[in-house]
Amino acid sequence: MKLYLQGHDYKYAVEQMLLTLFPDQRPVYPDAPPEEGEDFARLSLSAGPCWATAAAQLRYGGAERRAVRRAPVSALTDERTRGRVLQRIVKRAFYDAGTALLGHEPPWGAMTGVRPVKIPAKAMGNGATAAQAERLLRDVYRVSPGRRALAMDCARASLAARESLNDGEVSLYVGIPFCPTRCAYCSFVSADVGRTLKLLPEFVSALEREIAALGRALDRAGVKVRTVYFGGGTPTTLSAGQLDAVMGALGDQIDLSRCTEYTVEAGRPDTITREKLEVLARRGCGRVSVNPQTMSDQVLAAMGRAHRAEDIRRAYALVRESGLPCVNMDLIAGLPKDSADGFRRSLDQVLELGPENVTVHTLTLKKGSRLMTEGSALPSGTEVAAMLDYAWAALRAAGQVPYYLYRQKYMSGSFENVGWCRPGTESLYNICMMEELHTIVSLGGGGMTKLIDPPSGRIIRQANPKYPQDYLRNIDSIVEEKQRVADFFAAQM
Ligand code: SF4
Repeated sequence: MKLYLQGHDYKYAVEQMLLTLFPDQRPVYPDAPPEEGEDFARLSLSAGPCWATAAAQLRYGGAERRAVRRAPVSALTDERTRGRVLQRIVKRAFYDAGTALLGHEPPWGAMTGVRPVKIPAKAMGNGATAAQAERLLRDVYRVSPGRRALAMDCARASLAARESLNDGEVSLYVGIPFCPTRCAYCSFVSADVGRTLKLLPEFVSALEREIAALGRALDRAGVKVRTVYFGGGTPTTLSAGQLDAVMGALGDQIDLSRCTEYTVEAGRPDTITREKLEVLARRGCGRVSVNPQTMSDQVLAAMGRAHRAEDIRRAYALVRESGLPCVNMDLIAGLPKDSADGFRRSLDQVLELGPENVTVHTLTLKKGSRLMTEGSALPSGTEVAAMLDYAWAALRAAGQVPYYLYRQKYMSGSFENVGWCRPGTESLYNICMMEELHTIVSLGGGGMTKLIDPPSGRIIRQANPKYPQDYLRNIDSIVEEKQRVADFFAAQM
């Protein structure tokens, strides 16, 4: 859609709202005015002595709407607040014009961020009652009743998690950026899976160096690890011996005496063996993710998965035999070749297995994924909504509650990803990571270290390279950078 910004340059804010209102439109900034009958949005901003005014003029599909939002100039106290308030009125004017024209509001209303739970959690953390926090979602952000219920459950879980954390604790993320094959919707793992797999031995040695450097930094800072999470990629792409080496190095080099949760993603059932599960259990892992995404063989094949639903059942049985106490299973709503009925069958089959946690994702189209480059017929937004409606009802009926959620760009129907659990089996790591409750230190490929100072909300980010080749090439500087973790905590004393 053609976008004309007048009196401001809040491109990011405007694009976020464009995506919320018109997910299939991409922004264009033309030099010439719109032609007769062409779709466009004009967002202008002006300030008088008392009021700042944002005006939106939107033409779409032959119809036109206008809207205005204002804020008192007295509220623009400093540069940061000024930017926040002005962007908000520009977005709201756009939202008002867009929803008037479309005749309906998106499920998350005017919320455009990826962490909607932060808003009610922050309000309640500052003394608001649950009813007041929910009214904030309803009246200010126009969030639908279903999404409000999700956000409020997750906000309660976030506050409980915050209560359980102690000073001087961090979580650890270990990224293993390898998979046996590449899924159609993935932009993370290199397309040349075969060639990168040859780098595994070198990667394991480099990771052991990074683990040792982090162990020294944490010791110097007197910081303890509260949760460990192996993600990727698929960590169980590593052989049993390689898993033993990495998890052994972690236990030897890093003090895990305060660790209360240790997760390993064993996402692809074709990578799960009895031998690897024995290593996981012996090395302290208590939570495993077995991720079918769907239980339909036809949809699995369309995704580029080299296994069938029967392999998922076999892998799940192996995990149960291994005695690992907590199992998560991921499903995706909106996969190509899937339908609302197909998704229902997948969820029912997963619930029959009885995992402690179920995570329901909504398909996100990622740049660089095969789905994005080759295109494919996807279930409609209405069908995805029916899948999620069913999931909420079925999961609640099975005794599960939502405990964390997040949203992503280019998500089918502008919905969300939600982690569900049997009460008492919440993953603390997932809540800490999503709600940014404490520092997450990342090792390996693709992780993002977030050094978080909770009182001020200040976050310092430090990314590890995503691809194994880049990780190996830069390992000396990655090892050196671990010192920054110690420096960060020393500066807080
Ligand atoms: S299992 Fe996950 S990381 Fe691996 S290819 Fe599939 S989507 Fe990508």
